[in-house]
Amino acid sequence: MVFDVVNHAKMPRWNRRFLNGYWIIAVLCIVASVVIARINSFMNAQDFPIALLGQYACWTCVGLLVVEAAMRLLKRWSDYIVIAGSLVLSLNLIAAFPLVLPTLATLFLPILTSIFYFQRHKIGFALLVTVSSFWILYGVKLRHMPFYSWIDLFVMTNVLVVGTIVGLEVMRRGSDLMKDLRSTIASEQDLLVKNILMDKLAKTDALTGLYNHMSFHEYLEELIRQGEQNELTFQLALLDIDHFKKVNDTYGHRAGDAVLKKVASIFQEMVSPNDFPARYGGEEFAILFTETDIRDAMQQLERIRHHISAVRHDELSGNPITISIGLHAYRKGCTKEDLFGGADTALYRAKHKGRNRIELFQEERVTLSS
Ligand code: GH3
Ligand code: MG
Ligand code: MG
Repeated sequence: MVFDVVNHAKMPRWNRRFLNGYWIIAVLCIVASVVIARINSFMNAQDFPIALLGQYACWTCVGLLVVEAAMRLLKRWSDYIVIAGSLVLSLNLIAAFPLVLPTLATLFLPILTSIFYFQRHKIGFALLVTVSSFWILYGVKLRHMPFYSWIDLFVMTNVLVVGTIVGLEVMRRGSDLMKDLRSTIASEQDLLVKNILMDKLAKTDALTGLYNHMSFHEYLEELIRQGEQNELTFQLALLDIDHFKKVNDTYGHRAGDAVLKKVASIFQEMVSPNDFPARYGGEEFAILFTETDIRDAMQQLERIRHHISAVRHDELSGNPITISIGLHAYRKGCTKEDLFGGADTALYRAKHKGRNRIELFQEERVTLSS
């Protein structure tokens, strides 16, 4: 099974970092061998096997050059080549200082490197190449050394296997954590979507999708608050479908619902993004016009009224419906009740005057009629 915990698209960059790290080790060894050689000659001391360090550094550089060439030629296998590259460092060190037993610990380097990829087969590969090359090194060189016996071979192999198992478990744990993290993120996103939906449901009317009564009042209160503080012009229109009861009685409630939806969608299409259309009650709607003057609002409403009266409804056997509209412009000092009172009075007048018309509530009244 492939664990996609590590983003594999970024691996080439990481492989380069690994190789840079190996180069730094090799270069540091060269520098150290030169510096120690200088100190030795200055102090006339020969305590440190300087030739071995230099030899190790040189062989490591040769090994790394081979690794670099392989990386360029076999790009597909670059992860494996990087793992093998760390083995070059380790085997060189053991070969150079076979009597310094802690150097054996560097055999873990390929296994540790392979864990980085979060892929089981790469960890398995690291174990295989490490154990087999250690056996070869043992057969060729170490078995001739004092302190080494086949028991070291056995113990080291065991230690490497146990290390690999620990590595695999670390990887499994990382994968579990990642799954947990993913499911937490997914459920948080779920919650966010649900909250947005709930918010939308709370603010909109289920039948028409327009803003509902409550959100309309919230918005209007905010506009009035701003109107009190700044110079703000806006207008409130109340729109009521004419003789809607008759529509329901003649064609049924379902047909009535379809007409309500259609009327709402016409409002939505015909108002500008700055305007706020809402379903105020059963067959009553309200629109708040902002960033317009009263004449623009009147003209916009007239277009809406005209359009609605021209639409033929299949649900009503091809008959149209009409709407009456009352409009009231906000003025500083106007309360919500004043504004509604005025719009309602204007609407009542529009009904009274024969419906399918717009009435404006003002000292000097302007009337656009059908
Ligand atoms: P007017 O021209 O004076 O406004 O007459 P009207 O018949 O439209 O007004 P009235 O207030 O007498 O009737 C309104 C009707 O609207 C009554 C009710 O059945 C209907 N109505 C209210 N809400 C809905 C709804 O959600 N769906 C449907 N289909 N009808 C509704
Ligand atoms: Mg009505
Ligand atoms: Mg009504």
